[in-house]
Order: sequence, then structure tokens, then C-alpha cells
Amino acid sequence: MFFCYNTIQKIALGTRMKKLFTIFGNPISHSKSPLMHNLSFRGLNYSGCYTRYKLEDGSMLRDKFFELNITGANITVPHKEHAFRACDVLDEFAQKVGAVNTIVKRDNRLYGYNTDALGFLKAISEFKDIKTVLFLGAGGTAQSTSIVLRDAGYDVEILNRSAKRLERFKKEGFFAYTFGNFSIQNHYDLIVNMTSAGLQDDNYPCPVLFLEKMIPKSKACVDVIYGKETPFLKFAKQHNKPTKDGSDMLLYQGVIAFDYFTDHQFSFEEIKKYMQRAFML
Ligand code: NDP
Repeated sequence: MFFCYNTIQKIALGTRMKKLFTIFGNPISHSKSPLMHNLSFRGLNYSGCYTRYKLEDGSMLRDKFFELNITGANITVPHKEHAFRACDVLDEFAQKVGAVNTIVKRDNRLYGYNTDALGFLKAISEFKDIKTVLFLGAGGTAQSTSIVLRDAGYDVEILNRSAKRLERFKKEGFFAYTFGNFSIQNHYDLIVNMTSAGLQDDNYPCPVLFLEKMIPKSKACVDVIYGKETPFLKFAKQHNKPTKDGSDMLLYQGVIAFDYFTDHQFSFEEIKKYMQRAFML
């Protein structure tokens, strides 16, 4: 069970001096992050307390961070770019992608990281013999993830419903297509739904004809949406492809964030052991 921020802060400050953490976003009520991090704090006997904070105005993020006297925070939709601007120090990768989802306060300075993309990289590592990857979608998640995958040696191409978001990818040197100029004869080992299609509707991320041509030739299909089987994943399963949803990505970005929050005191496996319990409840 989770309390509102003020209640948590009073409990934490009034009893033991726990370090406070939160997730900023809007909406935020659905977030699994408080459960994931609190299970790990408890399991690892770390004196921390993690809650959620609905932040409407992203430009207030830095002020809120100091006002609430927190040690670290995750940042989710729609504030990752505000979080990027709120930091004093950015790690190299966050700087490259222009988005921050993890902030840690050290000596009153805010340090920013992006753990989403590394979480995704780790999540797909179980699929072997993958070289070519097609991202369906060109939003913020696709942007940071495409760079990490390319740095790791994958050939990534982007297919998006509309043209505007593709400009940034083209500038970065990616092949990027709209539905109108894409060739369905192309072959990809891994096809990833990076859109929000299927999250709150029953839409496919691209015309179903494209999936009919490409999925049978692929080796695996991944959706970044978690907690439900999207039409995209259902379609891939019907073609007997190995699939996975976004749960592992969420788990691994959380493990990496926790590692920053606790200044590298615990191993990846130790953190994962407790954090993954959030997905079993
Ligand atoms: P953005 O809002 O930045 O981008 C949304 C993208 O989805 C755009 O490319 C948009 O295309 C496309 N899109 C939306 N609806 C449709 C549709 N009906 N058909 C085709 N394309 C569509 O979103 P994010 O990149 O921040 O997030 C994308 C997804 O990733 C979300 O579902 C989010 O929940 C998930 N996510 C999962 C994480 C995890 O840990 N598992 C972490 C972060 C995000 P267009 O440009 O044409 O509008």
C-alpha cells in the first residue's frame, strides 16, 4: 500500500531518517515503480522510502525535487525532457539522447541518467542471432533506445505513422520510413512495437498487411507496452514467434536506477531478486 507524498514524508522523517525517493509523472497512479523500489529497499535492508508524485508542470521539477528533500527520483511521461533540463550534471548517454528518467542528488547537485534504453537492451539480450531490428514508432522511447542498440552493434531502422518525428532519426543517420515509403519486402530479425498503439485501444502499430509480410520472416517480436497482450503481440504469437512484453524493460530500467540511488552498494542480481517480486503480486 502507498500513501500520499506528505504522509510518507512525515512517516519517514518522524521515525527513522529514511532517504526519500519518488517518481514524477502525469498520470502517475498506475506506476509500478513505488512497489518495485520499496520491495528492494525492504529486501536489501536499505533505509529508503519511494512514493509517487503527480507533477503537472514539468518546469517545476527541479524546485519540487529540492522542496520535497528527496535523494533520488524517476521521471516518466511527459517530463523526461524537463528532467534533462533540470540537472546540473548529465551522464554521457543522457546527454546524447536529451532525456532523463533517473535523477540522484549528490552534494546538492542533480545528476541525470537515462536507464530506459539500457533496460531495453538487457531485456532483448535473451534473443540470440539478432542483427537487424525494426522499430514501429518514433517517440521518445524509440529515440533513446535506437542509439543504445546501434552502439551495441544492432542495425536499427524506424517505421512511423507520420513523418515529423522521423527527422531527428534521419539526422542521426538511421533509415527511417513512413507507411507510404516503406518496402514490406524488407527483412528484420527483431520487430518492436515502440508505439502506444494497443495500450488503451486495439490498434496495430502499422497496417496489418505489413505485419503479415514481415513477422513470418522475423526471429522474435517485442512490445514495450506491459501488463496486457496487445494486438501486435497476439499477432506475433499466432505466428509462433518468441515474444516478450515491456515488463522486463521496466524491471531492468528500475534495477539500474536503484543501483544509482544506492550508490552501487548492491549487485544487479541482488536488486533484481527483490524488484521482480513486484511483477508476481
Ligand atoms: P511518445 O508519445 O513519445 O511516441 C508515441 C509513438 O507512438 C509515436 O511514434 C506515434 O506516432 C506512435 N503511435 C501512437 N499511436 C499510434 C497508433 N495508433 N498507430 C501507430 N502509431 C502510433 O511515446 P513514448 O515513446 O514515450 O512511449 C511509447 C510506448 O513505450 C508507450 O506505450 C509507453 O507506455 C511505452 N514505454 C514502456 C516502458 C517500459 O519500461 N516498458 C518505458 C517507457 C515507455 P506519430 O508520430 O505518428 O504520432
